[in-house]
Amino acid sequence: MTLRSGDPFWLAKNGILASYPLLKKDERCDVAIVGGGITGALIAHELTAAGVDAVMIEKGAVASGSTAASTAMLLHEPDTELRELIARVGEQHAVRVYQLGLEAIDAIEALTVELDDACDFARHDTWYLARKLWKTVSLKREFWARERAGLRVEWLGGADIAKQSTLANPAAIVSHGNAALDPVRFAHRLIARAAVRGMRVYERTEMTHFDDHGDHMVLHTLGGARIVANRIVFATGYDSAQYLGREPGTLHSTYALCSEPVADLNGWPDRALIWESSRPYFYLRTTHDQRVMVGGGDISSANSTRRDGKLAKKTEVLLKQFQLMLPAIALEVAYAWAGTFGESEDGLPFIGLCSRCPNAYFALGYGGNGITFGMIAARLITDAHLGRRNVDAPIFAFDR
Ligand SMILES: Cc1cc2nc3c(=O)[nH]c(=O)nc-3n(C[C@H](O)[C@H](O)[C@H](O)COP(=O)(O)OP(=O)(O)OC[C@H]3O[C@@H](n4cnc5c(N)ncnc54)[C@H](O)[C@@H]3O)c2cc1C
Repeated sequence: MTLRSGDPFWLAKNGILASYPLLKKDERCDVAIVGGGITGALIAHELTAAGVDAVMIEKGAVASGSTAASTAMLLHEPDTELRELIARVGEQHAVRVYQLGLEAIDAIEALTVELDDACDFARHDTWYLARKLWKTVSLKREFWARERAGLRVEWLGGADIAKQSTLANPAAIVSHGNAALDPVRFAHRLIARAAVRGMRVYERTEMTHFDDHGDHMVLHTLGGARIVANRIVFATGYDSAQYLGREPGTLHSTYALCSEPVADLNGWPDRALIWESSRPYFYLRTTHDQRVMVGGGDISSANSTRRDGKLAKKTEVLLKQFQLMLPAIALEVAYAWAGTFGESEDGLPFIGLCSRCPNAYFALGYGGNGITFGMIAARLITDAHLGRRNVDAPIFAFDR
């Protein structure tokens, strides 16, 4: 599966930050991490901080899969609204998911401080907008649910919105505690730090299959080298169905663009992250160098030929939608790309052991918040591996 195509901004912005060798000789370690995207990077950092001996293999280049395609809005709200999530998983777990999202964003910020590289991390409020008047009633109910849950939210009616921006939407929930960053730089910095702590990293090294010997695992790579490990972590993103023996969610295709830097952000409310409550998604953010990133236009097919064939048209549609929303900002498209995107039924990721492979942890960030889910996975998997009880583990378990 090709996880993304086109011309993602982060790869152009960063160039090649680091490169790692191909695995040629057999390796032995406690934990073998398969996948060098943001999820694998966060897990690698957390495990090596706890003193775990790890090896990471990546079949392409580090951070070049879905991580490179990400618009990297760090939201504590999953795709599933709180009211719906309560109906699906109960109030306690649903509210905890939102709180864990906030904790994950705080933890990511702390990591950028520890790494001494901000990786463009910046705090932003989020404006979650109703597109049509009839959506206002359900958005208001969602606002009340979040307020009752103790989340930091504000309600804006149409007149309040018009005072602070040129948006013509009839209502919005403004939430605090979110952020944005450069995901490629962040993943690279995390992996580099884990490598300093002793993790061996191999690029262009594809795992073809593995054997479970009960007390240890043997991973086989395309080049013939083997890794003997006590446990495997699958941080293989939306390309994981083959290891699970089933597709854990639904795969779609999605699109994004990034503009040339704009002179000013006329009518944009304080660089907020903006997304609409309607589906398919439509969302926007700014970058450090005052570009605008726009995403959405999802289609139900994950076929990469179909996905890529629509890139030019979808870019046009996203641009038009942006111009309708914030007409005082003239955008010139500099980069456009497409990616595969996975959603689980309840909008939550799958993290932990799965009965089919009892010696393998999975960290599958299905849902719109792959990066915050990656941070949650890093903590849960490290706790599981060190035998520490984590009361939140059942929320994300495969058999939930
Ligand atoms: C257009 C778009 C916009 C998005 N916007 C956001 C957003 O705003 N906020 C957000 O939080 N999330 C967003 N996401 C989702 C987010 O990008 C993903 O959830 C996240 O990048 C997943 O990271 P990952 O490390 O799990 O997967 P990946 O980055 O895909 O990494 C998995 C890696 O595993 C490697 N791999 C797979 N199989 C093997 C194997 N057999 N051997 C060796 N290596 C292997 C792959 O090469 C890949 O590099 C967006 C996604 C897209 C496509």
